[in-house]
Amino acid sequence: MQDKLLEGYGRFRKGYYQRNRARLEQLAQKQAPEVAMVSCCDSRVDPSILFDVEPGDIFVIRNVANLVPPFETKGDYHGTSAALEFAVTCLQVKQIVVLGHANCGGIRALMENDGSIKSAGFINSWMQIAAPAKEKVLANHDYNTLEQQIDACEKTAVSYSLRNLMSYPWIRERVVAGRLKLIACYYDLRCGELVDVDEINATSAICDSYSSHSTR
Ligand SMILES: [Zn+2]
Repeated sequence: MQDKLLEGYGRFRKGYYQRNRARLEQLAQKQAPEVAMVSCCDSRVDPSILFDVEPGDIFVIRNVANLVPPFETKGDYHGTSAALEFAVTCLQVKQIVVLGHANCGGIRALMENDGSIKSAGFINSWMQIAAPAKEKVLANHDYNTLEQQIDACEKTAVSYSLRNLMSYPWIRERVVAGRLKLIACYYDLRCGELVDVDEINATSAICDSYSSHSTR
């Protein structure tokens, strides 16, 4: 392991761990976070630092470009969906936050791919989850430059992820019952600003439409 990591662990063990030993030992018995967060793997976007929270506070699910795939029942490997299932059905979190961010490499790769890159690589395939967001942005002629389009797609993809969350039956039923709230926000790492992008809760229009759909 890198010296930087080993030295950091030494400081943690002697400092933070000792100062918080009782609480950390109690946490070792059981976790009960009230918030699950889907965030990017990007090394510059660290939810624990950004929201100044302690171990046990948020259940963080990190993937490339903080995407939520739509619900499906095919027998592939679904890391993000499995983590969501655990957070919602076992931990019974009260909020799911999807955290987008500026200068996202995954979104840039998606927007720069004009269709000529058809590699069988994992990133290209994974980023297709955000293809509807890309289409929406490209259809909007207010965005003239690639940089503007990337910026818009980072936020639009977060909204689409929120909608994809509603395709999971155990999420939808809790949102409709008012027991779970879905929130999308965006962190601009260029200036440190956090903005709300979207929200789905029991009273919002999209929830009503899902509710009437599910009872049809
Ligand atoms: Zn990213």
